[in-house]
Amino acid sequence: MKITVVGAGQMGNGIAHVFAQGGHQVTLVDIAQASLDKALATITRNMDRQVAKGTLAEADKTAALKRITTLTDTAAGVKEAGLVVEAATENTDLKLKIFRDIDGHAPEGCILATNTSSISITKIAAATKRPEQVIGMHFMNPVPVMKLVEVIRGYDTSDAVTRAIMDLSRAIGKVPVEVRDYAGFVSNRVLMPMINEAIETLFQGVGGVEEIDTVMKLGMAHPMGPLQLADFIGLDTCLAILRVLHDGFGQPKYAPCPLLVQMVTAGKLGVKSGEGFYSYTAGTKELKVAPAFAS
Ligand code: NAD
Repeated sequence: MKITVVGAGQMGNGIAHVFAQGGHQVTLVDIAQASLDKALATITRNMDRQVAKGTLAEADKTAALKRITTLTDTAAGVKEAGLVVEAATENTDLKLKIFRDIDGHAPEGCILATNTSSISITKIAAATKRPEQVIGMHFMNPVPVMKLVEVIRGYDTSDAVTRAIMDLSRAIGKVPVEVRDYAGFVSNRVLMPMINEAIETLFQGVGGVEEIDTVMKLGMAHPMGPLQLADFIGLDTCLAILRVLHDGFGQPKYAPCPLLVQMVTAGKLGVKSGEGFYSYTAGTKELKVAPAFAS
């Protein structure tokens, strides 16, 4: 199947990677040429790692990389697609605009999926003339490693489209789970309040960054502490998801911690900007925010 991935950030490059490795022709689209260049370099580096580990043959890597083409023109990128997976910035207005655009240029039978972490699939679908063909296909980060795909049915998503996306997910080695379309779905409705509470705990000076992460790693057997995980997800993305939960349910428990808001305002977005709760320079991770700084 010809698959177009719109948005070549940290999720888009992973999604292009797994589809290309699964034998699909992939067109990767982004408005920024720099994002496309970085995405191809990341995919190559990640596939090299798989080759070194013996989980991917060198010839299969070369073939997979050849299946990926890049473009900065969305309309041209989707015109022959059987499936479009949108993975652009987590912003409702932007996604509505992208879906209107894709809907106007993709072939009639093309399924339109979004990798959104929290925005209503039903709302995105309503921006198109094919709501029954719009679905959430929520990959986890890092995409080549994580098995789960949360498949989210919007109000109008058809059984046939849901089945097609569940089958496609299995065919590329993922485990799909079908859920309903309410803010945050299952994954981020459970995860984001935990991350927000960890930030609030830091904000109140109850514990430092390493203390909070260590409690959750060693005490709850989480592979990574919530603050480090927030850095990996992107603090801007965490903030955007919390705002969707807050708007969607109208409950104060989802209000983003002021420290998260301030860090995003200051451009501290986590791994992607080089600094969040930790500092990421030259492949290392160092503690950044001083323990109990709020006290
Ligand atoms: P990112 O900031 O790394 O990448 C976003 C990309 O979208 C950028 O390269 C940007 O240039 C591009 N973009 C912006 N406007 C565009 C447009 N009009 N057309 C094409 N490309 C455009 O973000 P990300 O972390 O990859 O997140 C992308 C999506 O995946 C978001 O919806 C996010 O919520 C979701 N998601 C993120 C994670 C995570 O852990 N980061 C996990 C699951 C889902």
